[in-house]
Amino acid sequence: MELLTALSAPERDREDAVTVDGRSLSYEELAGAASAVASRVAGAPAVAVHATPTLETVIAVVGGLLAGVRVVPVPPDAGTAERAHILRDSGATLVLREAEDAGTDTYDGIETVPVRPGERGRFRAPLPDPEAIALTLYTSGTTGAPKGVQVSRRAVAADLDALADAWAWTADDTLAHGLPLFHVHGLVLGVLGALRTGSRLVHTGRPTPQAYAAAGGTLYFGVPTVWSRVAREPEAARALASARLLVSGSAPLPEPVFRDLAALTGQSPVERYGMTETLITVSARADGERRPACVGRPVAGVATRLVAEDGSPVPYDGATVGELLVGGPTLFDGYLGRPEATRAALTDDGFFRTGDMAVVEPDGTHRIVGRASTDLIKSGGYRIGAGEVESALLDHPAVAEAAVVGAPHPDLGQQIVAYVVADGVSEGELVAFVADRLSAHKRPRAVRFLDALPRNAMGKPVKKLLPPL
Ligand code: ATP
Ligand code: MG
Repeated sequence: MELLTALSAPERDREDAVTVDGRSLSYEELAGAASAVASRVAGAPAVAVHATPTLETVIAVVGGLLAGVRVVPVPPDAGTAERAHILRDSGATLVLREAEDAGTDTYDGIETVPVRPGERGRFRAPLPDPEAIALTLYTSGTTGAPKGVQVSRRAVAADLDALADAWAWTADDTLAHGLPLFHVHGLVLGVLGALRTGSRLVHTGRPTPQAYAAAGGTLYFGVPTVWSRVAREPEAARALASARLLVSGSAPLPEPVFRDLAALTGQSPVERYGMTETLITVSARADGERRPACVGRPVAGVATRLVAEDGSPVPYDGATVGELLVGGPTLFDGYLGRPEATRAALTDDGFFRTGDMAVVEPDGTHRIVGRASTDLIKSGGYRIGAGEVESALLDHPAVAEAAVVGAPHPDLGQQIVAYVVADGVSEGELVAFVADRLSAHKRPRAVRFLDALPRNAMGKPVKKLLPPL
């Protein structure tokens, strides 16, 4: 089975090949339980998975993939409206969920199929077509309603192989992470990546610094909020010194966190960039240089372009900002049921318009500056990247979190407004601090203090949920 190589690797099997929140299965046991699921769902157009951070979710997803049925992970804490949207939009006709919960809940009127770890099924079927859709994944909903992204088996396999190459990821690794199991990061990289490379998988449950320190991984995945918590717990961070690689992604890793992690663990984190529609396409390498605020170069098989608003190429001079386009075998097969949105997202020659702004160094290293829709501030004739101002604010020792936006302004078009989580510092001090580091037009005109930034399940700040000034 091309995506699930580990399941047919008895020579490498062990009792704790896959551990989720303290319970373990061998590959053989996982294959047996997933086969039982596959027999029950084979032939369905699509199955939803109530994607709690449990072994049952891993079994359900693997079972759907074994059967060649399109798998639709549903965030377990999705509100009723979001859940109904995903179920209706995806066309799922069955819902897989933990045996204890199945049957107790009709799940929006759709039949539920119980998932049990101890089962031993025997499902035999020819390998599904590589071009078949493996998963419908919903985007994080950072900028709008989550969109259903059609991801083929070919795209998943191509991406995982490129990442295995970039990170020297092999069957000798133990991958540890505590990310949700319904997005690309936690599910595709974090579960299918382990099964394709044949490495051991430890899902830590809640991704606390202590849980990461205790997981015994050689390879760790985390979103920046996880790494920033680890960096504030020196004891836990030092326990990661024996790991081979710490990987960060899903949102920008603040430079102070990069530096603190490097100092505490003796190794710089590897930052990588990607999205549901393209999977993970740009990354620093295990055997290469790792620079703060940089996400490395395109992975094997992927090509990127940097373009201006009129589509003309932007030079790789380390200074000029353009929109990043991505092409190659890891691209999605479109938004489910939205041909217009799919067409609008692709260039004539099939490159995906990421909506992310980037700068590329002459040596090809990419820096993500922010999202065109929320992070590009046009103020007094200047174009200012919110990320640069956020980094400057985060350099202040009293600032724990920062989000910068452009708010409407009668003369300037937009004015820079900073939302910060900070203790013992005044608005005036913060404005002066930024003015000292950046050009005058990049200093915030107003600073608002919050207890926490609004974030979604991936720990990304959701700027549209910031309170008005
Ligand atoms: P939606 O598309 O619904 O608004 P989303 O774009 O957050 O949500 P995802 O596909 O999960 O949904 O996330 C992809 C986005 O995450 C990228 O477009 C980019 O803005 C951001 N991202 C991912 N990795 C990085 C990184 N290393 N640095 C900066 N931004 C990143
Ligand atoms: Mg997006």
